[in-house]
Amino acid sequence: MADSLDGNVLAAKSFARFGVTHMFGVVGIPVTGLANRAVQLGIRFIAFHNEQSAGYAASAYGYLTGRPGLLLTVSGPGCVHGLAGLSNAMINTWPMVMISGSSDQKDSGRGDFQELDQIEAVKPFSKFSVKAVDIKEIPDCVARVLDPAVSGRPGGCYLDLPTDVLHQTITESEAEKLLAEVEKGRVFEATKAPPSSEIEKAVSVLRKAERPLIVFGKGAAYARAEGELKKLVERTGIPFLPTPMGKGLVNDDHELAASAARSLAIGKCDVALVVGARLNWLLHFGESPKWDKDVKFILVDVSEEEIKLRKPHLGLVGDAKKVLEMINKEIKDDPFCLGKSHPWVEAISKKVKDNVSKMEAQLAKDVVPFNFLTPMRIIRDAILGVGSPAPVVVSEGANTMDVGRSVLVQTEPRTRLDAGTWGTMGVGLGYCIAAAVANPERLVVAVEGDSGFGFSAMEVETLVRYKLPVVVIVFNNGGVYGGDRRSPEEVSGPFKDDPAPTSFVPGAAYHTLIEAFGGKGYLVGTPDELKSALSESFSARKPVVINVIIDPFAGAESGRMQHKN
Ligand code: ADP
Repeated sequence: MADSLDGNVLAAKSFARFGVTHMFGVVGIPVTGLANRAVQLGIRFIAFHNEQSAGYAASAYGYLTGRPGLLLTVSGPGCVHGLAGLSNAMINTWPMVMISGSSDQKDSGRGDFQELDQIEAVKPFSKFSVKAVDIKEIPDCVARVLDPAVSGRPGGCYLDLPTDVLHQTITESEAEKLLAEVEKGRVFEATKAPPSSEIEKAVSVLRKAERPLIVFGKGAAYARAEGELKKLVERTGIPFLPTPMGKGLVNDDHELAASAARSLAIGKCDVALVVGARLNWLLHFGESPKWDKDVKFILVDVSEEEIKLRKPHLGLVGDAKKVLEMINKEIKDDPFCLGKSHPWVEAISKKVKDNVSKMEAQLAKDVVPFNFLTPMRIIRDAILGVGSPAPVVVSEGANTMDVGRSVLVQTEPRTRLDAGTWGTMGVGLGYCIAAAVANPERLVVAVEGDSGFGFSAMEVETLVRYKLPVVVIVFNNGGVYGGDRRSPEEVSGPFKDDPAPTSFVPGAAYHTLIEAFGGKGYLVGTPDELKSALSESFSARKPVVINVIIDPFAGAESGRMQHKN
């Protein structure tokens, strides 16, 4: 029929009509037509080698843009690989939608090609999932997965498109009618805010505090609360502590930044206003001995469930930006500022100065063969040299990420992506691609351990194919934590001649991987070589891999998480 279209086309049309501009994924049976048609309709489709990386990209895209990041996968194994990204979005509370083709409905239970009960498989990792069982349901199902991904607490949603549904056809006019009906019926949840009486209580508790602290996390970054946060910090003079991905909401170099005095700040504060950050493992569950046992928490979170779970002194359920705006308004009528000579501010500021000068003394040394600190200092300075818009920094790997978190300086919001709440390794290349696509004006710099890089190293081809301005710096210490570092007494058993489980090929030429596809690679082992590679690649704004050779004995096993290993 000349004026008919199939399920693949109708799905692509629905996504385009309902505001989708980007998709990440891997094409194949039965969704290739969907991807091709999406491109024709103006959606940018970033084609990956592996659904896992594409899924990580979709999750980060959701975080960076505040719109659902879309992942398209094939059926069965494609869906299973995609679960890595979907689960990452759920745990980080980022908006994402995974769309997978699935096997023919009529052959269900008979061992069809790539058959799997995908709705059941995604259950633990999604807020909402739906299967379109007829072509006519496609527009409605698309709207039903896009909307909950961003409403309330963001998260992952899933849409299942069986092969037979993708092959069904309807007329153009029927399709248009369905699309228009669904478009008209879409309702968006209003921004949540607590009652003003709760805001008054929160301000009163903050006002009475002797040692207050403001903690903020990636939920505040997602809410784009940076302007209100800066206002609050500066109006009240309260020291602040960002979580790793909260870094940059207020400049890391701000005089009230308490990051370099973290133990003192959390150990001694009597009131902590925690905005868009969970009191989970990253914040020691808000419990002693890391925190004072009598600390009063005021939690700001869009999720009521989260607040109920933590049982804080006061919970403000609402959007971080909105709640902070209300707090700032309440303070404006009766302003207060601790001032630089306040004993608490002075104590934090002194500790910060002491710790920073100790760290700077370590960083100032040019240690060759490289430890982690020397190259990290050179990278920090090169990134700061870029100015504004600041590069997005992607970081993973145990030691590389730990050292990078304290050394690299974030001056702008949403410019740090790392292993996150789930401690997910392998996110690096996917995050780089998402960051470059979501923020075309920014350079992207990945600072990766060699093991983190290895999870998705083939995606360097994707960087080259889409000409993305991404510089991947690999800290190459020959393995997980640092290669084969066993003493002779530790080597025994019938497979004693095998390399250690922690080790990779020593001195691996990672920089040549990208050269296979026409990108640029650098091998560096000295400060001058690294400076020159960074300077060239930052100004070229082209895909680059810099292979930095690190002393295999420089890293600690499990980085700073040794108590968990
Ligand atoms: P971090 O890793 O930076 O500590 P978490 O991921 O633990 O941050 O916490 C982020 C929190 O932010 C989640 O509990 C989530 O519900 C919340 N959140 C998400 N969006 C918003 C928003 N718009 N306003 C307030 N809180 C939000």
